Amino acid sequence: MPDLPLVARGKVREVYDAGDDRLLLVASDRISAYDHVLPTPIPDKGRVLTQLSVWWFDQLTPVLDAFGAAHHLLSADDVPADVAGRAMLVRRLEMLPVECVARGYLSGSGTAEYRRTGSIRDVPLPPGLVEGSQLPAPVFTPSTKAEVGEHDEAIDFARVVELVGAARAEEVRELTLALYRRGAEIAASAGIVLADTKFEFGLSPSGGLVLGDEVLTPDSSRFWPAASWSPGAAQPSFDKQYVRDWLTSSGWDRVSPPPELPDDVVAATRERYVAAYERLTGTPFR
Ligand code: ATP
Ligand code: MG
Repeated sequence: MPDLPLVARGKVREVYDAGDDRLLLVASDRISAYDHVLPTPIPDKGRVLTQLSVWWFDQLTPVLDAFGAAHHLLSADDVPADVAGRAMLVRRLEMLPVECVARGYLSGSGTAEYRRTGSIRDVPLPPGLVEGSQLPAPVFTPSTKAEVGEHDEAIDFARVVELVGAARAEEVRELTLALYRRGAEIAASAGIVLADTKFEFGLSPSGGLVLGDEVLTPDSSRFWPAASWSPGAAQPSFDKQYVRDWLTSSGWDRVSPPPELPDDVVAATRERYVAAYERLTGTPFR
């Protein structure tokens, strides 16, 4: 591990102080599901998350430019040798207390909410939608950034306004949706449906809006192979849904410590993460 002061240890990443208002974000091979870190790591996962994020930051720069915003990546090369490939040197931000989720398709907790209320958050939806359906237009479905051990909580737009102010709330909603649309367009050209994703934004010392964290990875997004997309049931995916499904079928109660993953589940999960990287970027993962 790098010889720098540890600032925070998240479920997946270690955050180090790199001096001069910079952080070193190091992605581990840990995998989390249902807000628990699983005891079994997924080999190469940290490198896939980092390298895919680095690729996306570049792809998304025109969208950020159009909003007068920026991303936090300074370098993925100028990092300590022992974490090379899975670390990013970034600008240190004051993170907004909101997870900015965009959904273009109905899935998971979105489907549950729709079945209960006919809408997602404050956005009414037409009847007849099922798991996997494309929404008439992408929707912004923010949640709180939970404290360690807590679960993220769905919030409506009015709560985002309370948390960050009206102007900033509108700005992050529009930017979240614009980034989702561009991400979905790029994914589509690689044969992948970007069903939903989560962004995190922060403020630079001068108050500018900056896209932080990881972006459009299999940890923060649902990726479905476009060729097999067929609404009405759970979709095959290149993300951690496979692990969530395995955990559910294992009978784990989501409260007690999660079980070890068997070797074949580890291997199949690694393959999904690598496939997401390779399909999206069009380059082999090494
Ligand atoms: P948390 O531990 O915050 O509840 P998490 O388990 O998702 O969430 P990780 O993703 O493992 O955490 O760690 C990354 C942490 O670094 C997150 O808390 C994220 O908000 C934060 N972060 C990402 N980019 C920046 C940045 N540029 N400046 C400051 N903090 C950042
Ligand atoms: Mg995170």
